[in-house]
Amino acid sequence: MAKFRLALISMPWPLANRPSIQLGTLKSYLDYKTPDVRTDCYHPYLEVGNLLGIKEYNSIAERTWMAESIYAYLLNPKKRPEILDLIHKEHGPKSQESLPDVKDISTQIHRLHQRQHFGVDWSSFDLIGFSICLSQLTSSLYMIRQIRDRHPSCRIVVGGSSCAGELGRSLLANIPEIDFVVSGEGELPLLELVNRLAKGNLEGGDCPGLLWRDGKGQIRGAGLNQLPNLSDLPTPDYTDYFRELSQQPRLGNLIPGLPLETSRGCWWHRVKSGSVDRACRFCNLNLQWHGYRSKEPAQVASEMDKLAGKYSSLKFYFVDNILDSKKLDKLFKCISGIERSFEIFTELRASVSRRELVQMRKAGVTQVQIGLEALSTRLLRKINKGTTAIQNIEIMKHCEELGIQHLSNLMLGFPTSEAEDVSETLNNLRFVMSYQPLRKVRFWLGDSSPVALHPKQYGIRRITNHPYYQRLLPNSLADSLSLMIKSYIGDRTKQKSLWRPVAHELDHWQRQYESLRREHFSAPLLSYRDGGDFLLIRRRNPGREMESFRLRGSSRAIYLFCETRRTLTKIHRQFPRFSLDQLQTFIADMVEKRLMFQEAKQVLSLAVNEEPHRVLCDPEE
Ligand code: SF4
Repeated sequence: MAKFRLALISMPWPLANRPSIQLGTLKSYLDYKTPDVRTDCYHPYLEVGNLLGIKEYNSIAERTWMAESIYAYLLNPKKRPEILDLIHKEHGPKSQESLPDVKDISTQIHRLHQRQHFGVDWSSFDLIGFSICLSQLTSSLYMIRQIRDRHPSCRIVVGGSSCAGELGRSLLANIPEIDFVVSGEGELPLLELVNRLAKGNLEGGDCPGLLWRDGKGQIRGAGLNQLPNLSDLPTPDYTDYFRELSQQPRLGNLIPGLPLETSRGCWWHRVKSGSVDRACRFCNLNLQWHGYRSKEPAQVASEMDKLAGKYSSLKFYFVDNILDSKKLDKLFKCISGIERSFEIFTELRASVSRRELVQMRKAGVTQVQIGLEALSTRLLRKINKGTTAIQNIEIMKHCEELGIQHLSNLMLGFPTSEAEDVSETLNNLRFVMSYQPLRKVRFWLGDSSPVALHPKQYGIRRITNHPYYQRLLPNSLADSLSLMIKSYIGDRTKQKSLWRPVAHELDHWQRQYESLRREHFSAPLLSYRDGGDFLLIRRRNPGREMESFRLRGSSRAIYLFCETRRTLTKIHRQFPRFSLDQLQTFIADMVEKRLMFQEAKQVLSLAVNEEPHRVLCDPEE
């Protein structure tokens, strides 16, 4: 019997230097589950990367609206003037980069697809699947239309983070070229769809996670269908990506990083009786999943070993929303046990301890994104982040010390934030200027995030799709699709002016940090060297002499004891010969000098060890 042929496509704009984990995972899962399916993966984003060059490609890929505009220009010729206007607006007058010539880029891309993809015999496939995640809406709609125009009998399924729940249902309801939607994670619904199509019997009863139109044009299906256990997942198969990459001459020097998932969902995001009971209020990253599942550490380490060996790459991107805090220690010990010098990127919560971070650094974690969001505990409570400002400052400090690059955000303009939140932020910013700066990110309303689900609590009167979609899509679609990025009527104008001083401070921090690091090379900007019975602390300042401080005897010991956050009670227990008042006087002096940070009863020393190898080699860590 001929094999069922499935094509999986990932259109621009994922970053070109990594394969699609969605495609790689589905391919390996289907191969493992059924010998009767042959899956071919296509990564047209590689060809577009080759066409534009990696720098220009990634510069577009990193800006969602810019990325969506390129294919909207092809998809929707009537709206070209509006699209060009949007691009000018998005580019902004202060941008350092030159304005992309959208007309020229879109024309080149269209010709590329004409040469490379329109001629493929798509009708030889029994099913064609598109993975639609961030910035892939217009590019996927463009290719779906092109394929269906040429091969009207092709069956098309879409899935990915932009197709979960109502988003996917609205795509199916409004775009006749789409035949099926996989809502939520893809393995089980896609396998079921393939089996039904192979048997020629779609009507095999409902299959959670799979939506389709029945003979009367009614949408059938709902819900999610997910693997009970991630140990059922084989190692992702990136063969097709690497084969395609080898055919792109301009990307010949690229050594791709390998995406890997150690878990799905988020343990902080908790649903009780059908509604979100606990989660970060802005977050909609968990629409695709119910509950949290993680792989066993040994499985992750073995996958890394296999993938590194097969593709000769050492860079890994953990794509998890959140690592499993209960398995963290074991996970990174298992990874350290492999004789390969990995470089790992992962997302983190600020609650990760210094000991865990040291373990991660030893295993090869060199880059992280920490879910910090704010430097005001008052605001963190409103966001329901479950962390505090001192925790955030502590992890920023440890990253600085261990040489871990962190690309973390400070969110401006969260609805209902108040002057007190801003002033707490401004105050706390003074204590972190010697650490890597946070990126300025304005709050945006995500579909089905807790804020969107409870708008009144946040002073929001009306929610619509973001108006940019009106410029990108035909009016009929922009009005009727349920889309990821929302706009709202609420307190936006007030928030913008409230947060202006913080935006200004963040720009200043960025400039100052970059210039000081250039001047002082690898030296941390606030650091210490330990003399055994005294401590030398140095602060490198912009445009003036370096400040030095010497702490002797007990002052040194207290300062080192507060290397991690300590409560006053613990400090007192450790140094009982001092009264609480004496300790508080010493700490207040250190805070005044911005050498320590205090929040309520917790205290943290801010200077980092100038010799991080001592921390990494310390058997106690
Ligand atoms: S922001 Fe991160 S920690 Fe918060 S709910 Fe979303 S995934 Fe979970």
